[in-house]
Amino acid sequence: MTPAATQAHVLGFPRIGAQRELKTAVEAYWRGALDEAGLRAVGRELRLRHWALQEAAGLDLITVGDFAFYDHLHNATALCSAAPARFGLDEIDLAGYFAMARGTPAQPALAMKKWFDTNYHYLQPELSEDLRLALDRDWLFPEVDEALAQGYRVKAVLPGPLTWLWLSAAAPGFDKLRLLSRLLNVYYAAVAELKRRGVAWLQLDEPILALDLPAEWLTAYRTVYRELAPAAPPMLLATYFGDVSEHATLLTSLPVAGLHLDLVRSPQQLQVFLREYPHDKVLSLGVVDGRNVWRTDLARALAVLHPAKAQLGERLWVSASCSLLHVPHDLAQETRLDPRIKNWMAFANQKLDELALLKRALDQGEAAIWPALQASAQAIEDRRRAPSTTVAAVRERVAALTPAAAERRSDFSRRIEAQQARLGLPLLPTTTIGSFPQTAEIRAVRAAYKAGEQSEADYLAAMKSEIRRCVERQEALGLDVLVHGEAERNDMVEYFGEQLDGFAFTRHGWVQSYGSRCVKPPVIYGDVARPRPMTVAWSAYAQSLTDKPMKGMLTGPLTMLFWSFVRDDLPRQDVALQLALALRDEVVDLERSGIPIIQIDEPALREGLPLKRADWPAYLDWAVRAFRITAAGVRDDTQIHTHMCYSEFNDILSAIAALDADVITIETARSHMQLLEGFAEFEYPNHIGPGVFDVHSPHVPSQAQMTALLERALQCVPAERLWVNPDCGLKTRAWPEVEAALARMVASACALRAQI
Ligand code: GLN
Ligand code: ZN
Repeated sequence: MTPAATQAHVLGFPRIGAQRELKTAVEAYWRGALDEAGLRAVGRELRLRHWALQEAAGLDLITVGDFAFYDHLHNATALCSAAPARFGLDEIDLAGYFAMARGTPAQPALAMKKWFDTNYHYLQPELSEDLRLALDRDWLFPEVDEALAQGYRVKAVLPGPLTWLWLSAAAPGFDKLRLLSRLLNVYYAAVAELKRRGVAWLQLDEPILALDLPAEWLTAYRTVYRELAPAAPPMLLATYFGDVSEHATLLTSLPVAGLHLDLVRSPQQLQVFLREYPHDKVLSLGVVDGRNVWRTDLARALAVLHPAKAQLGERLWVSASCSLLHVPHDLAQETRLDPRIKNWMAFANQKLDELALLKRALDQGEAAIWPALQASAQAIEDRRRAPSTTVAAVRERVAALTPAAAERRSDFSRRIEAQQARLGLPLLPTTTIGSFPQTAEIRAVRAAYKAGEQSEADYLAAMKSEIRRCVERQEALGLDVLVHGEAERNDMVEYFGEQLDGFAFTRHGWVQSYGSRCVKPPVIYGDVARPRPMTVAWSAYAQSLTDKPMKGMLTGPLTMLFWSFVRDDLPRQDVALQLALALRDEVVDLERSGIPIIQIDEPALREGLPLKRADWPAYLDWAVRAFRITAAGVRDDTQIHTHMCYSEFNDILSAIAALDADVITIETARSHMQLLEGFAEFEYPNHIGPGVFDVHSPHVPSQAQMTALLERALQCVPAERLWVNPDCGLKTRAWPEVEAALARMVASACALRAQI
């Protein structure tokens, strides 16, 4: 490597393994089928493999510290020995690490929170005045030694101390910064130890810089990095997921050896930083998308990098925008993906190669990577021209949308009258959120059909008999609004994606969601359209079995969007509108087939919220519009429900009200109806069904417990507007629990009804 060379590196690499080896090993360890030594051996093998990939691709630094058996933020917690007293741990060994991650019979787990605007979840550290903080050398250092022993040039990575603190949980009013000086002592010892061991660089991740930060937190950056600098290896302060140009003066004046910027999310911030970039700092530019599966336009990336190279010379580094944790491992495994679409994509391994190519072009000239540049340009051009990525009929329909398309025919008060006349429901109507237990038999039938081992006729017959059983059980339970049970659905996004144009599916495109849980998001690559009805036959069949109203069940446009990898060649709101129109047609077809109630699930509405509040209104505006377009094609007497879970809503209540769903069902049981208080204060106008039992727990609450929750709900919402339902779908539960819980729920509603 010549001294003037550009350095290529990643902020982090996926840890689960191309075959999800980590998931398999961790779950075997939990079951007692693998001992600690066995688990550690799998971890070591995965690390060695992932480092070897970075080295083979030609990266200049090997990143160490991104591995974790559960979550990397939790690893930092373990490194700092920061176990809340309630776990009674003297030190955090592997068993203690998992006890905090998963809970024990005596103690609930640490809270799990979404990692910024990704679908990754981290374990939230818990702060208190007397929290123990001390360096535990059994974490991180063995991995660093492992990498050094391989002869690698090592860049260690840790969450920055301020990011760790900010993301922690603390009692209301507790000033987290009070713990900073004690935390800094631990970090000081850690960075000194890294330097002593010969680590070349230390990457400190400070993604909170992309949020709205109070002034005292920004000031704290000076303290933190001034304290650490004398003891630490050269430090790279990494920002990602957003624009940090408002902090350019602060960041460029910190005593760190380099900064990393996410140029995929915020290309415009480069200019601001280049204006007066210090002569002694490295600038790492994230030009390869760490959040999405698309191949990098190398020519475009080079156009961004060249001026930076001219100004910075060897102080320019190239990287992905953020850790590659958020993309799948290896596109080469996708042997069944349409080769044309596959050629537009890049997973983590391919992104390593792209970084090496960019480095080579910067150091040796573009001619040195000519064939790769050609291939990249051809792929981009092919994608642009592919008939599936621009479908005239879809584009025209979106362009022709008028404000009227987002408006129901009448306002809520008129609609609800028409609906009540049609449905004749009692006060406090009871319903469920859609799915019923997905038994082993159902899964087996679906799998056999998918594998071509079962005929369509047999499959249809099996699903129909399941629907019939499900309807009979709901009737026996005395529920007022029934559902068909979703037996035919593998997953609420995949099921629809498979029937829509513009979606592709991978076989191994897994990304970690939390702990050992991985998801395989569909890929939206083209214009979205619905060639034919998707759910109508199932819902109509279910309705034919009962006189009770049947609720049709759809996944909303925003959830479809946020739980997929989305094309990056069209603004997200345009994709949302395409989805909205496709789903709108389904809503109208359901109505036409006689379905009187249609639920449009949007558990992911909140996930799309931008990191900075100033950007919220613009997002909520298009998100609400997409939902309304989906819903607005129906008559007044067709009732639209929506459902949301996993979220706090109080700060977006006006957007939720603007959805104007006739009924919203929400998750509230675990928070003891707390969410509902916000709805009450806001004077939310439409009907609400707060969940009265937690579907994630196998424990069936008593009728009295449910009644207590409903009584609490009645203090917030008048009886005329209150529905009774579980927190969420029941697909992960077993029938005996479900029947017991629903029987108590119905009994509770009936008893209250009689008193009102
Ligand atoms: N209708 C879906 C179900 O019942 C809703 C799932 C969800 O909200 N996550 O499974
Ligand atoms: Zn839900």
